[in-house]
Amino acid sequence: MAKKSHLKRRRLSSTAEVQVLSMSRRRCAICYGLLGDTGIKDGQIAHLDRNRNNNDIDNLCFLCLNHHNTYDAKMLQAKHLTVDEVKIYRMELYAAIKAGVLRRPSVSRRVGPARVSSRADAEIMMRLFDRRLKLYVGFLKFLSHVTEKADLELSFLYRFSRHITIRCFVFGDDIEEYLQEVKKKAIRLRAIRRMVQHEKDNERLQKLFEEESEVLSWLSDQFDEGQRRFKKYLQIDWKPGAG
Ligand SMILES: [Zn+2]
Repeated sequence: MAKKSHLKRRRLSSTAEVQVLSMSRRRCAICYGLLGDTGIKDGQIAHLDRNRNNNDIDNLCFLCLNHHNTYDAKMLQAKHLTVDEVKIYRMELYAAIKAGVLRRPSVSRRVGPARVSSRADAEIMMRLFDRRLKLYVGFLKFLSHVTEKADLELSFLYRFSRHITIRCFVFGDDIEEYLQEVKKKAIRLRAIRRMVQHEKDNERLQKLFEEESEVLSWLSDQFDEGQRRFKKYLQIDWKPGAG
């Protein structure tokens, strides 16, 4: 990796690539350093000294597409975003990853109405809003499915659990806890319906029916309750003309 070829551009070795990707966990060092944005990004490995033949690990840094473009452009040099500065951000990012404090993106956990002051911020908020909206729609679909379907498939519940894990990256703890509660009720509903099928005792059967209707009514109420809880995450206060 240290040897340089002046004949043609040296390809980045896959080991170096894997190393950079795994160390950064696909978090952009500039997003992290300037915005505290710890979201996983679509990005590329940048050559910090802008020499594409220098594939030394210290010269490589994962940057989001946006920052990779602007880093390579003269514009950012004018803004004094120097190699050393990015290296500091990268060092802080790697340290944070090692310390395990990056599990939840800080910018993603901003509760609305979010203030948007720069174009980069606006883009982050836009993407975040988009993702939040999709997850909220997914939640509504889950509720419809759970309340309408007589027999809930286990695979459907597993999928929802997986989505809770994704949701905890883009919402706060309150939503995660809330969704766990919804999931528990859905699982309970499924269990009650299974028990009903095998229960012979009339009194116990009656109790199960009562509980079923209680749980079902609770779940139906979550269309409104969910809207109330998600609402604060789906508000953006756009300041025009900034950035
Ligand atoms: Zn970035």
